Amino acid sequence: MKEDMLKMLRGNVGDRVIEAMERVPRELFVPESIRSLAYEDHPLPIGEGQTISAPHMVAIMCDVLDLGEGMSALDVGAGSGYHAAVMAELVGPEGCVYSIERVPELVVFARRNLREAGIKNVTVVEGDGSRGLPEHAPYDRINVAATAPEVPEPLKEQLKVGGKLVVPVGSCYQELVLVIRTEEGFELEHHGGVVFVPLIGDHGFKI
Ligand code: SAM
Repeated sequence: MKEDMLKMLRGNVGDRVIEAMERVPRELFVPESIRSLAYEDHPLPIGEGQTISAPHMVAIMCDVLDLGEGMSALDVGAGSGYHAAVMAELVGPEGCVYSIERVPELVVFARRNLREAGIKNVTVVEGDGSRGLPEHAPYDRINVAATAPEVPEPLKEQLKVGGKLVVPVGSCYQELVLVIRTEEGFELEHHGGVVFVPLIGDHGFKI
């Protein structure tokens, strides 16, 4: 089943992303009762009303972000920890990933899954990721796995020059937006329609 998933992704995203996903055991990042569904290409429930994103969406976001060896990355919305694990494989042992999650139960879930998968270069932090994680900024790359009303300003400010941020933006209609920080300011690229749960926080949606 894992091979079928990788076959479906080949040709659509770069080989480095495929190889990273090949190394991460996705079945360890879903609740035990649904492990048999781990390689199906759709989101799955992980508890607390949240989901692990579909494999193709993780692949596309990692591809758009173009993560390189040794980079420092921030992942907003740790959920199960799977997306952060794939990012960790892409930045390699010299790189590091900070993954922030607002739901305490999912912080515990993500940490346990990452530990069981043997992923060592991800630090899971509890908090409001719409504010970023300024104590470890600036970042080469920022991934946001929940939709925001607009690109959160603190995340833009926590990018290095040359850094990239990928974030779904919108509510009814959502679009994947890539922000690139340049010497002069910020450039935006649009990468098509997506469906994500809301980013809830100071610079996201309010509850
Ligand atoms: N990347 C995750 C994975 O690999 O399983 C899936 C992410 S799930 C689609 C979105 C996650 O964002 C949820 O776990 C949700 O609790 C979290 N979230 C929503 N708003 C947040 C915020 N302001 N800060 C941090 N996490 C947030």
